[in-house]
Amino acid sequence: MFVKTPKIFFKLFPSIIWKKNTDEKKLWLTFDDGPCLKTTPLILSILNDLKIKATFFLVGQNIEQFPELTNEIIKSGHIVGNHTYSHKDGFITNNAIYFNDIEKNNKIENKAMIFRPPYGRITFTQIKYLRKKYKIIMWDVFTWDFKKNRSKRIKKNILNNVEKGSIIVLHNNSKSYQNLKESLKSSLVELKNLGYSFSTTW
Ligand SMILES: [Zn+2]
Repeated sequence: MFVKTPKIFFKLFPSIIWKKNTDEKKLWLTFDDGPCLKTTPLILSILNDLKIKATFFLVGQNIEQFPELTNEIIKSGHIVGNHTYSHKDGFITNNAIYFNDIEKNNKIENKAMIFRPPYGRITFTQIKYLRKKYKIIMWDVFTWDFKKNRSKRIKKNILNNVEKGSIIVLHNNSKSYQNLKESLKSSLVELKNLGYSFSTTW
């Protein structure tokens, strides 16, 4: 179970964004899945308290189910990206169905043309097609925040692995709620104390 993405992936899939190229102490904070009735308000309130902007890769069917939460995310100044309509796995989904599912997510007007494949699973063919339209965003720091009772470990996963330009993945779903409640704020405060700021410019 990787926390830090091995560098070999950067070479194998050069057209995907694994990490941003910057000399500044900047990080890109991303939240997958969602909106989620339980977890989204928690995340938004923490980000608001700390005046941090993040990127939310939302699932289309959750957007439809929770339009108010979606608006809240956008109103708060965060960036919204595409995470398919029904959280499809690129490895086992027919390409036409996969691309259709991604298009179906495109209902929010002011959404950035950024895409994150669910489970990080995407094929070379899918990349080739999708990169014409989207920036495909992966990560270099995977926190495992959806695993139970991991709040201390998540904080360590973040603090021990970030570097300039890191893209951190957290989850905007109910599985992550308790961990985020226990460790998100203090992790972000610590990152700020280390001199990091947060960007949403892709
Ligand atoms: Zn996901």
